[in-house]
Amino acid sequence: MKTLVLGGGVVGVTTAYFLAQAGHEVTLLEEKDGLGLEASAGNAGIIAPGHSFAWASPRAPAMLLRSLRGAETPIRVRLAPDPHLYLWGIRFLRECTATRARRNTLVKLRLCQYSQRVMNELVRTEGLEYEAIAKGALYLYRNRAELEAGVKKMALLAEHGQKQEVLDASEVAKLDPVFEPVKTKIAGAIRDLGDSSGDSRLFTERRVASRPPSPGSTSSGWSAGRASATGCVSPRRRSSPATTGAGRRATSTTSFASPATCFPTPSTTIGESTARACAR
Ligand SMILES: Cc1cc2nc3c(=O)[nH]c(=O)nc-3n(C[C@H](O)[C@H](O)[C@H](O)COP(=O)(O)OP(=O)(O)OC[C@H]3O[C@@H](n4cnc5c(N)ncnc54)[C@H](O)[C@@H]3O)c2cc1C
Repeated sequence: MKTLVLGGGVVGVTTAYFLAQAGHEVTLLEEKDGLGLEASAGNAGIIAPGHSFAWASPRAPAMLLRSLRGAETPIRVRLAPDPHLYLWGIRFLRECTATRARRNTLVKLRLCQYSQRVMNELVRTEGLEYEAIAKGALYLYRNRAELEAGVKKMALLAEHGQKQEVLDASEVAKLDPVFEPVKTKIAGAIRDLGDSSGDSRLFTERRVASRPPSPGSTSSGWSAGRASATGCVSPRRRSSPATTGAGRRATSTTSFASPATCFPTPSTTIGESTARACAR
């Protein structure tokens, strides 16, 4: 079947890869001059089943209210004259009960764990180098009460397969010296050992460069590397798109609504900026 994938970020490229591997003739359209230059270049690169908590939780309505009053909150909404926003808002609020939040979190966790397994298998078979670090991620807490609440909350993920350890501030600093100067400003951290990180732009670029066989076909397969990436053109430019073969699925999904700050271990530029944030 002829299939068109719109957008050459990590999701589009991976989808194209898996589709073509399943025997489809895949065309990938990207409007920028290269692949993976948008969110896939700007994301934090954290592959975090340990961060699977559903955004719609019993805490979310109060957070939304504070956000509407102008407070700095993880979830922010700007009201607009858009009926779809309000319909979506009603559906979101209906999911904010403790029972639904738990159910949705476990669905997300299963998806994240599955995606991570698929991604690891893909990386292994293709030998992709994308500056991967598989040493877990730290979820930092500023005070004892938040840390204790975090431990209780994270227990749900631990019960469903995530390996975790609780560290006090000194143990955090020992694990990652970037936190030594600010260890008095944090109560500790939960380390999820199953989380990992890497460079999502490199992953996207190198996925294109790899040439997995396409079953039963010699005509489809990735056209090689960066040249083909820049050959993927915008429909607005009215030239022919680069046709690729082979595609796979999205890498990992994660949410960013936890009160804790998440970053990969050991320190990266993210770790350093997190340490600076802790100092405030
Ligand atoms: C600040 C930030 C941090 C994040 N950190 C993480 C993280 O640590 N871990 C994580 O898993 N996720 C993270 N995310 C989520 C992240 O966005 C996704 O992980 C992932 O990068 C999304 O990939 P994508 O391919 O869907 O989007 P993109 O990488 O944005 O790709 C979409 C592509 O579509 C192209 N496009 C758009 N319109 C058209 C058109 N009409 N025609 C042709 N091409 C078009 C764009 O140019 C772009 O290249 C983060 C997001 C943000 C904003």
